[in-house]
Amino acid sequence: MVQLKIEDLQVYYKTPIGSIKVLYDIDLEVEKGDSLGIVGESGSGKSTLGLSIVRLLPPNGKAYGKIILDGRDLLSFSSAEMTKVRGTGIFMIMQDPFNSLNPVKRISDQLLEAVEIKYARKNEKVDKGKMYDEVMKRLRDVKLPDPELIINRYPHQLSGGQIQRVVIAMGLLFEPEIMIADEPTSALDVSVQAQIIALIKELQSKYNMTLLFITHDLSVAYAVSDKLLILYGGRILEYGPTEEVINEPLHPYTEGLLKSFPKGNYKEGKLYTLNGMPPLFTELPKGCVFNPRCPYAFDKCFVDEPSLYDVDGRRVRCFLKNENKQ
Ligand code: ATP
Ligand code: SF4
Repeated sequence: MVQLKIEDLQVYYKTPIGSIKVLYDIDLEVEKGDSLGIVGESGSGKSTLGLSIVRLLPPNGKAYGKIILDGRDLLSFSSAEMTKVRGTGIFMIMQDPFNSLNPVKRISDQLLEAVEIKYARKNEKVDKGKMYDEVMKRLRDVKLPDPELIINRYPHQLSGGQIQRVVIAMGLLFEPEIMIADEPTSALDVSVQAQIIALIKELQSKYNMTLLFITHDLSVAYAVSDKLLILYGGRILEYGPTEEVINEPLHPYTEGLLKSFPKGNYKEGKLYTLNGMPPLFTELPKGCVFNPRCPYAFDKCFVDEPSLYDVDGRRVRCFLKNENKQ
């Protein structure tokens, strides 16, 4: 069953030099309980996509199109309706977990407040003891060591990994159907990153949540997702089942990303790097957005922009993969 469907999403930011478009023609579908890896270099529009879904774009951002959750278009919701969805339907784990907690309140107070809000929204009266039990259950879900001790601390008394676990526990309190994780490990030590990724995956399967995992790291996306979406210059360049995209990339950009994977040959100086830099939205190239870096670019690529073509049930934005090479 399709749970989240995005149709023709376009996002603009107002800036002192005018309105800049940063997401173009985004179409995607995610089935209930599936996981979608959203991969792209810095500035490709990954966070903008996540923030559009939860309707938390900064005030100068504006989204157009449709974001349909369980048949209802979120872009048509009032702020009050959207607050309810954010509390129950969708939960977003942000890049820096410290920003998700109040630094001057104990963890216990913040988590208990979250449960209170949940029951107030449902108009249910629940006693404090039951709420405390619920908080402890979620802290055990996220495998925090000594939750009875940690719950009495302030955020600055926890490590980055512990904070991220607390934030995930807070999200679980609302029993979300969709979890959006935006680079959830980028602010953490490498040793903790794998644990948090494994935890998110485990919780997704335990609670049958739909997962959108945003990352710049294709290997992480490979580990967590059923489908992959490759974003570049605000466009989807490739979209399809993870195994197929990794084993047989259709887009030259995906091919380049895969070739850039280190294979233990650093010392021999053979590490492949993609030429050039991602484009600036204020200076997008004419034609295909990837043409300055593409080893296969031909005349047409510098004039026209390719559409997102269907290729055997997968999607790719490249003239070479269009049947008629139009
Ligand atoms: P990163 O991995 O570095 O977080 P990203 O892929 O998530 O990058 P976004 O943060 O979505 O990319 O940004 C996409 C583009 O939109 C970038 O060019 C960025 O500079 C621009 N942008 C983001 N927020 C704003 C804003 N509030 N006002 C103007 N431009 C913005
Ligand atoms: Fe490369 Fe042309 Fe394909 Fe773009 S359309 S990815 S420039 S071959």
